[in-house]
Amino acid sequence: NRRIVLNSRPVGAPIADNFRLEEGPVPEPGPGQVLLRTLYLSLDPYMRGRMSDARSYAAAVAIGEVMVGGTVSQVAVSRHPDYQPGDLVQGSGGWQEYALSDGTDLVRLDARMSRPSTALGVLGMPGFTAYMGLLDIGQPQAGETVVVAAASGAVGSVVGQIAKIKGCRAVGIAGGAEKCRFVVDELGFDACVDHRSSDLRQELAAACPKGIDVYFESVGGRVFAAVLPLLNVKARVPLCGLISLYNETSLPEGPDRLGLLTRHMLVKRIKMQGFIIFDDYGSRYGEFQSQMNTWLKEGRIKFREDIVDGLENAPEAFIGLLEGRNFGKLVIRVAGD
Ligand code: NDP
Repeated sequence: NRRIVLNSRPVGAPIADNFRLEEGPVPEPGPGQVLLRTLYLSLDPYMRGRMSDARSYAAAVAIGEVMVGGTVSQVAVSRHPDYQPGDLVQGSGGWQEYALSDGTDLVRLDARMSRPSTALGVLGMPGFTAYMGLLDIGQPQAGETVVVAAASGAVGSVVGQIAKIKGCRAVGIAGGAEKCRFVVDELGFDACVDHRSSDLRQELAAACPKGIDVYFESVGGRVFAAVLPLLNVKARVPLCGLISLYNETSLPEGPDRLGLLTRHMLVKRIKMQGFIIFDDYGSRYGEFQSQMNTWLKEGRIKFREDIVDGLENAPEAFIGLLEGRNFGKLVIRVAGD
């Protein structure tokens, strides 16, 4: 059983040495357990938080422990009455080839599913995050302008497409011309601006002639600084992530912008709300899945996956995720399905 454990805690951006590949025996399931063979491992930005022992909403991975992560797996051996060998499940097996489970963390998948990896993306946690954050907190109304950070990624790509379904103008923000082209041409956003552009503010203003009614925040930093002055009266800001800050060792120095933020929030009566998807919305997962399945069947939601082969390549792929090197939902193919 090959597995990747946390070797040391990163200071700033993670490096290869923060991870260690170990080999050990395949574990034996006890009574009531199943042995899972990992097919796909999801890599997600929240894992940066788990590598750090700073206080957060979830416990840190201990040094020497296997890295946490969502997985799609096949039941290899079952000593659990509800599972048979060959069953396909979504769970939290982590960065390893085999994992044990008592079934409490498992969601059964249709074994005939054509793309099981989508249970980690558009049909899984990131899609659910987009759905709840936009619809429950963002409350988009037809004709409004919705701006989406990290627009080509797992969450952002879905946010903008749901905004279009709801009759909004969807404007993405992404890194580089290729991602921006994809966001407009493939995903159907109305416009997309490159956050690396020196004219970000002006380009965003030009793309949002009627201001911004909903800003789906996943990035923070200079992207949010460009958005803030464009927010309309009664704008809503689902605060989903702040990826540009995840590798910071301390909050960025600079002029105190808190006064600017709070003044904008007061004068424009802006509502900003953070959320942690399963903690806040776990009970609505079923509703999301049935709606998303319908949209996918109707061809109204498109998705892009960035699939990297081999568990050993997970550390490098994860480091790249925090630098924008992924293009679409980042998934590791651990074994063939
Ligand atoms: P993505 O697939 O969007 O990949 C991350 C992307 O973030 C990169 O491709 C890159 O896109 C962008 N990025 C990385 N670093 C920076 C930076 N310094 N400045 C600007 N952009 C950067 O990831 P996900 O869709 O999985 O996650 C998106 C966000 O949603 C994250 O903030 C994540 O933490 C959050 N999230 C929150 C959840 C919750 O419950 N609150 C649940 C799931 C996700 P580009 O090249 O375009 O810059």
